[in-house]
Amino acid sequence: MIGYALNISRMAKQITTRRRFIYNAALAGVGLPLIGASGFCNGDTSQQNLQKQNPDNSNKLGIALVGLGSYATHQLAPALQQTKHAYLAGIVTGTPSKIDTWQQRYSMPDANVYNYSNFDEIIKNKAIDIVYVVLPNSMHAEYVIRAAKAGKHVICEKPMAITVDDCTAMINACQNAGRMLSIGYRLHFEPYNLTMARLGTQRVYGAIKKIDTGFGFTIGDPTQWRLKKALSGGGPLQDVGIYSINATCYTSGQVPTSVIAQEGPKTDLQKFAEVEQSLSWQFTMPDGYTAYGKSSYAENYNYITAYTAKGDFGLTSAFGYNGQKGFTPDGIMQLPAINQQAAQIDDFAQCIINKKATIVPGQLGRRDVILMQAIYESIYTGKSVAIKMPDG
Ligand code: NDP
Repeated sequence: MIGYALNISRMAKQITTRRRFIYNAALAGVGLPLIGASGFCNGDTSQQNLQKQNPDNSNKLGIALVGLGSYATHQLAPALQQTKHAYLAGIVTGTPSKIDTWQQRYSMPDANVYNYSNFDEIIKNKAIDIVYVVLPNSMHAEYVIRAAKAGKHVICEKPMAITVDDCTAMINACQNAGRMLSIGYRLHFEPYNLTMARLGTQRVYGAIKKIDTGFGFTIGDPTQWRLKKALSGGGPLQDVGIYSINATCYTSGQVPTSVIAQEGPKTDLQKFAEVEQSLSWQFTMPDGYTAYGKSSYAENYNYITAYTAKGDFGLTSAFGYNGQKGFTPDGIMQLPAINQQAAQIDDFAQCIINKKATIVPGQLGRRDVILMQAIYESIYTGKSVAIKMPDG
């Protein structure tokens, strides 16, 4: 528990303490990587050949992306063209037809291309320092553990895993290998969410009396793995509700002590045959107030509000890759847009280089899996579920 509090405190310290939210020279103090002079935005694939034009990656850590799906292709690979301390060195894919495009786009030698069968040979590859697991949720544990056994530092996408035991096995595997593990919690490096953490934990507007948050979107393709429980571990809670849970913790600086949760109605029984379509929950926080949350695969929303005696502060567009919008009793937040993924990856690379703990470790990923499991347990039992975190 102390570890979580320290993480949140370090997160909050990363931001300026100014009451006015105009961003200025304090950027350097935030510890965020600057957006490149080119002004490339996240997801911009027009910079495809940047790596080719700037081949000097000698001082950077090499990253191999595992699973070349949407997030790896449209967010992480472009972000890795902006990182200062890491670069895209390799790929691991089960789809041979993707290899040529990736190799050409990112000037990648054959030696740095793997599939899921020969992945363990990455142990011999000195060009790869970090393995970034971007696979369907239920595959995270296996590939994080294999990466650790191959002597690599690891970034694992959220949710960390679909069971708490898997999370613990992943943490142990990295510890035993003497390698660092972090979770792809990009919003811990994003100025608007950092501001929420600062305003809440430093009680800038007094003690929080209530939190209300939700993240939902309308899911498309009915055949995708997100709708298959064995691969996803569950529905919108696992995919996007986790952001609301995470934000509740960093805004409050606290971990809930119990939860009551309800599954929402299913209007599409076929599409949502294996996972929930929507759900809501109410966390009891250590200070005694309630943090309300909801998530859906059939509605679009994305917000967090913290209520205090001196007014409310929140984000009306909270958890996207960009486009955050926020307000406080003093006015609207005006903060810079950054490339969240580049900030997150660069921070981890610097943690490795400087032998410093990451603010988004495996323990944080496991905390959120514990909270999600408590929500499901409450839905199944119809009862309030007490939440207990493991020591360490
Ligand atoms: P996609 O479905 O787009 O990609 C997943 C990739 O995993 C596939 O393209 C494939 O890559 C590989 N794969 C291996 N086995 C399977 C399988 N059985 N079924 C499907 N794919 C398989 O997913 P996303 O990229 O959207 O999500 C991947 C992970 O990233 C998830 O854990 C998700 O929660 C997380 N994510 C995080 C985000 C964030 O903001 N932090 C945003 C989006 C996703 P290949 O063909 O190369 O083998």
